[in-house]
Amino acid sequence: MVNVTKAFGTGERRFLALGGVNATIRKGEFFTLLGPSGCGKTTLLRLIAGFELPTSGEILLDGQEIGHLPPYRRPVNTVFQNYALFPHMTVAENISFGLEMLNKPKAEIASTVERMLALVKMSELAGRRTDQLSGGQQQRVALARALAPQPKVLLLDEPLSALDLKLRKEMQVELKRIQHETGITFIFVTHDQEEALTMSDRIAVMAKGNILQIGSPSEIYNAPAARFVADFIGDINFIEGQVVVAGEKTAQIRLPGGQVLTARASRPVEGPVTLAIRPEKVGLRHADDDDVPLSGTVTNLVYFGSGTNVHVDVGLGADIVARATAPKVALGDRVGLDLHVTDLSVLAE
Ligand code: ATP
Repeated sequence: MVNVTKAFGTGERRFLALGGVNATIRKGEFFTLLGPSGCGKTTLLRLIAGFELPTSGEILLDGQEIGHLPPYRRPVNTVFQNYALFPHMTVAENISFGLEMLNKPKAEIASTVERMLALVKMSELAGRRTDQLSGGQQQRVALARALAPQPKVLLLDEPLSALDLKLRKEMQVELKRIQHETGITFIFVTHDQEEALTMSDRIAVMAKGNILQIGSPSEIYNAPAARFVADFIGDINFIEGQVVVAGEKTAQIRLPGGQVLTARASRPVEGPVTLAIRPEKVGLRHADDDDVPLSGTVTNLVYFGSGTNVHVDVGLGADIVARATAPKVALGDRVGLDLHVTDLSVLAE
């Protein structure tokens, strides 16, 4: 996608839903568009599908501009949030419907339907009407139907949002397996950061009609490029400071209390900056250890099953949160905080 914009309405009502999106999606990858409601994920997906036309920019598939082709001329298919199955038809009829529209030979249709049923593990329910299926089963049929014509790209718009949590987790694994088995490029839309992290090869984080960062789940999580990305994906501590020494890959940052921290910087930085570190990367130490860069008082302990969040007031306004499995600290204790340079990043605004 090259400089893709999309405006809705005209004159004073004109609204720029996409403000110049650039992204290269690789063949055969599980690519996720992640962002809060209204950021433009669905609009971008609809442009790729051909349900909307871009205001400007190009959408290329295998080097060919497809942005202005009608939907049926694009080798792209969509799985919708509400599945959009034909309720009066059987599972097998739903899957074969699109193939019949394409005038495929009968024998080919039969063998494709059989393959698709096996792929989504629905062979035994081939003859059942789709209005007599559970949500998870309907999801599988919708997937099989969309995959049957062998599109080059499958678009999935929040396909798991109607499922309860347990089923949703199960279908996450299934979707990933099916994507892997078919080798088809999946472009998946979600506002759920955990879902994006567990399923994707790469994620594009979107806000207000723009892509802020594209990267693997671990790049997005461990090296967020912008404050919005850091904040949107999981819990994180922000620390404000001033650059005192800027190196090539690291910078020294002075905090308002005078302490100096060394942080990872992927570009030259200066002036006031924000540092970010995940709670699970903040180490708890003795307050009187020589080399702890920050120390403070435990103000809160929040137990959440697999661990505890330890809130520490280090005199910076907001507490720093350290996450540990079984921390041996109590409210009011003085503790030291270990902030390793590779886990502490300087953010771009
Ligand atoms: P959600 O997760 O809530 O579906 P989203 O990230 O998919 O959100 P979009 O549906 O792409 O967001 O919408 C992006 C913006 O464009 C929103 O502000 C929306 O109101 C606006 N928008 C979308 N479609 C139209 C339209 N047909 N006419 C006018 N504005 C639209």
